Amino acid sequence: MSQGRAGIRIALAGQPNVGKSTVFNMLTGLNQHVGNWPGKTVERREGHFEHHGEQVHIVDLPGAYCLTAASPEETVTRDFIIHEQPDVVMAVINAASLERNLYLVAELLALPTPVVLGLNMIDVAQQEGFEVEPRVLQAAIGIPVVPMIAAKGQGVHEFIDVALQVAREGAAEPHRPEIRADHRAVLEGLLTLVAPYVPSPYPADWVTLKLLEGDQEVTELMRDQLPPAVWERVNSVLLTHEDAIIAVASGRYDWIRRMTRAALKRPRAGRITRTQRIDAVATHPFLGLLVLAAVLAVIFGLTYSVGGPMQEWIQMHVVEGLAGWLGTALASGPDWLRGLLVDGVLGGVGTMLTFLPILAIFFASMALLEDVGYMARAAYVMDRFMHAIGLHGKSFMPLFLGFGCNVPAIMGARIIESRRARLITILLAPLVPCAARLAVLTVLAQVFFPDSAMLVTWLLTGLPLVVLAVLGVALNRLVIRGEQAAFIMEMPLYHLPNWRTIAILVWQRLLAFLHKAGTVILSVSVIVWALTVLPTGEIETSYMGIIGYWLEPLGRLMGLGWRPLVAILTSFVAKENAVATLGVLYNAGETASALAPALRAELSPAAGLAFLVTQMLFIPCVSTVAVIKQETGSWKWVFVNVGMLALLALLGGIVAFHVASWVL
Ligand code: GDP
Repeated sequence: MSQGRAGIRIALAGQPNVGKSTVFNMLTGLNQHVGNWPGKTVERREGHFEHHGEQVHIVDLPGAYCLTAASPEETVTRDFIIHEQPDVVMAVINAASLERNLYLVAELLALPTPVVLGLNMIDVAQQEGFEVEPRVLQAAIGIPVVPMIAAKGQGVHEFIDVALQVAREGAAEPHRPEIRADHRAVLEGLLTLVAPYVPSPYPADWVTLKLLEGDQEVTELMRDQLPPAVWERVNSVLLTHEDAIIAVASGRYDWIRRMTRAALKRPRAGRITRTQRIDAVATHPFLGLLVLAAVLAVIFGLTYSVGGPMQEWIQMHVVEGLAGWLGTALASGPDWLRGLLVDGVLGGVGTMLTFLPILAIFFASMALLEDVGYMARAAYVMDRFMHAIGLHGKSFMPLFLGFGCNVPAIMGARIIESRRARLITILLAPLVPCAARLAVLTVLAQVFFPDSAMLVTWLLTGLPLVVLAVLGVALNRLVIRGEQAAFIMEMPLYHLPNWRTIAILVWQRLLAFLHKAGTVILSVSVIVWALTVLPTGEIETSYMGIIGYWLEPLGRLMGLGWRPLVAILTSFVAKENAVATLGVLYNAGETASALAPALRAELSPAAGLAFLVTQMLFIPCVSTVAVIKQETGSWKWVFVNVGMLALLALLGGIVAFHVASWVL
């Protein structure tokens, strides 16, 4: 199969959380490329390496439990194997849940590409009291089985050795699962009918099996291919055997039982494993919440106590240092160039960069929780609450990521299988106050409410979250109706973290963030900067100023003049711009003490509160909007999101102003 192509092509397959990425990272190191599968929001990771002088190209297929076309991950996996025809499939399976993992193997064996098995996590299996005999399993299935502890690098080389050998020399026929005996004749009859019409590269027996399983994609494919008379006959067979899907599945379970009968020893009944002991607390309806609250408190504490000072340091020494240096270096140059570089580029991108330490710490904590297996428990504990607002327990993780930055939060929503829950999560994510919004809130709460800044900060951090919950219920009931997905999620066994996996994950997330900073944020910062200086060079008479004047009637409803309005508008580029813009417009610095006199002179406490409420609810920054477009694939949802939040911000501001004027 590899003739005519350079090197050997390998596909890495497996269910989620089996250690596939660990194997992939170990083999490819940094020689990997992350993209998307065409037309899908599923990550495509591929890489290359040399093994004993041989060039190997490897594609890490997304984690899939089986190969029905129920989720994009499953479709991607099977389409890749069928259409791209790799030389060998390396299937990683988890020895600690061998039977469930073999279901995917049963499906992989129905495809023509040879399969080799990496029996991973044998350490975890042992701890949990399972014993798996690789040699016996190998003899039973008839394909190579290599025991591994991928996290410690054990067995990975043997795994690739065996895979390359099979790729070069081919493999013996494995013992494949068969459909349950009572449907065997039906399957054969159907195969005779359709085989002449199955288009290349689809294997005819696989297509027949999938037809019997009622697979929608394959059924549509064959309906188009078969002459109408043949389709009629096929269809009538399918209609009389609608229960065949059970026969196919039970054939697979039967196969799994036979394969594991001799190879697997289960733990003694009644033995309590480490995972069960931890879960008794971590997934307890009440204690679980306490654990989660404690974990989150530690993450927040760590992120802001360590990341905060680092952020200030970068702001002071790098961004302002660079600004000062540029100012001097360009002193004799044209004003516009200095403005462009210092205010436009550094003001936007530079400030975004100061958030890197906070994001790095935050992402690393999240990746750690994910890696040791705790995230699934957090999702489980939160599922009740998330369900109430139309979300899925899994929505909790991306939403929580939003406290760092909304961009990874929205990308993180990919883990949610239900399209509906994913969409609602994406639309709500901007209401999680990101690090930048929180920074603005902290500074300005000091300015407007020096005596009760802490209280105001807490209340206004909570406000968007309350709005998020209410809006979730509304979207769920009124706009995006549909079935709620049940909580079906794997609870991986707890295990020690793998620093390499974590480091690569953090690196990739930061890289995505930097990429955004370098492209979208850069261009929009420059455009907005231009709007604030063109055509006169003064912000008061600039286009942005003019927009501010236009909007003043709206602003008056919440007690705000054009200057605060412009500050809110420029926060579209990056949230922290709100403070910077106020600094420029009031000719003050960006610190609370410098801004306070000017702002307090113009804005009453009620107007100040309205400003903060609007700021907390206003549309997300431009990078977030760009990611919403990318992840939902449609402008419609971008407009829904932006329109909804703009309206909410306005209403929130008006209500806050009037209520506060009355109370304060
Ligand atoms: P994927 O979802 O299949 O890509 O799984 P990952 O490669 O991300 O692995 C999930 C977790 O299992 C990571 O924390 C790995 O470090 C860990 N892991 C992988 N292989 C082993 C192993 O053999 N033993 C143990 N104890 N942990 C492992």
